Amino acid sequence: MTTTSSPSSPHRSTAAPAGTLATHRPAGGWTALADRVLSGGAVDRHEAIAILDSPDEELLDVMAAAWRLRHHHFGNTVQLFFLMNAKSGLCPEDCGYCSQSKVSDAEIPRYNLLSAPKLLEGARLAAERQSKTFCIVISARGPSEREMEAVCRIVPEIKARYDLNICACLGLLSPEQARRLAEAGVDKVNHNLNTSERFYPEVCTTHGYADRVATLDACRSAGLQLCSGGIMGMGETRADLVDMAMELRSLAVESIPLNFLNSIDGTPLEGVSKLTPRDCLRGLAMMRMVNPAAEIRIAGGRELHLGSLQPLGLYAANSIFVGDYLTTKGQLPEADYRMIEELGFVITKGAEAAEPPCEALPG
Ligand code: SF4
Repeated sequence: MTTTSSPSSPHRSTAAPAGTLATHRPAGGWTALADRVLSGGAVDRHEAIAILDSPDEELLDVMAAAWRLRHHHFGNTVQLFFLMNAKSGLCPEDCGYCSQSKVSDAEIPRYNLLSAPKLLEGARLAAERQSKTFCIVISARGPSEREMEAVCRIVPEIKARYDLNICACLGLLSPEQARRLAEAGVDKVNHNLNTSERFYPEVCTTHGYADRVATLDACRSAGLQLCSGGIMGMGETRADLVDMAMELRSLAVESIPLNFLNSIDGTPLEGVSKLTPRDCLRGLAMMRMVNPAAEIRIAGGRELHLGSLQPLGLYAANSIFVGDYLTTKGQLPEADYRMIEELGFVITKGAEAAEPPCEALPG
């Protein structure tokens, strides 16, 4: 997943720079807002935008409010996810943020679906690295029949050998495909909304936002848990980010990865991302305040964009990927373990780790 931009590109940035909107601090301040959410209230659109628009001098107050919700639902635990890029490049879609798209010239490995032994080796590594979830990801508009069969065959084998949850990220899915994945033992499906409905045509023209929502609906109907999140830094406005967070809430998504665009050379969004580490923290805090009980994961771009503020992100999020991302390097697992330990947090291991409560919150 990555991007490149030219003046006539559908991927052209329309970003409003952070800090230019008027601030509408909630009445009673950030602590009162967290209190209201803890009592069952919901953050509204204006309040969510205000979080993204909050001044640097209030950043720690905003993070403290997010921390109260994170701690209420997850204590001091951190869940690790492990990504396996099971099929790389060669994708016919034109998602502008994605290095694996047909419109990307990025230098990445390109290969078809990995063999069963290689997938099993990936699962072994995920278990060894204390990951709770093994994510099988393929680059595709949607899975071919051959890919569906291979995934459905390998999932029971992985689960028989390792104490792992399985998340499948295979692109657009029909209700029938979602049902087959559920029957094979897949626990959740990742399919990111990525951004708002309004901004979606700016980052992809080969499929639409409604297609993505339809896949999430099909997965929910099949009894699968939903993993869906987005990307900050593609040129979207703060209102776009909030609209995406609210849509995730209305879909009762259990697991939300928030990526920070790594503007890879050769992609349509090359050079677009202008995020500061504080923007990223405000994004994580907003996602937590809007989706208080969801598992929120600091995803791609963590090391690049949060820099030395990475640990602070875990006061809003409760999850990270351990190891590399799909086509970019992550920091060494030992650095992640050290960060978690120094924060006084603990890793929850294996599939027995408590799932976040799945509750439909008011939209
Ligand atoms: S469908 Fe997935 S793999 Fe294909 S270009 Fe879009 S994000 Fe990349």
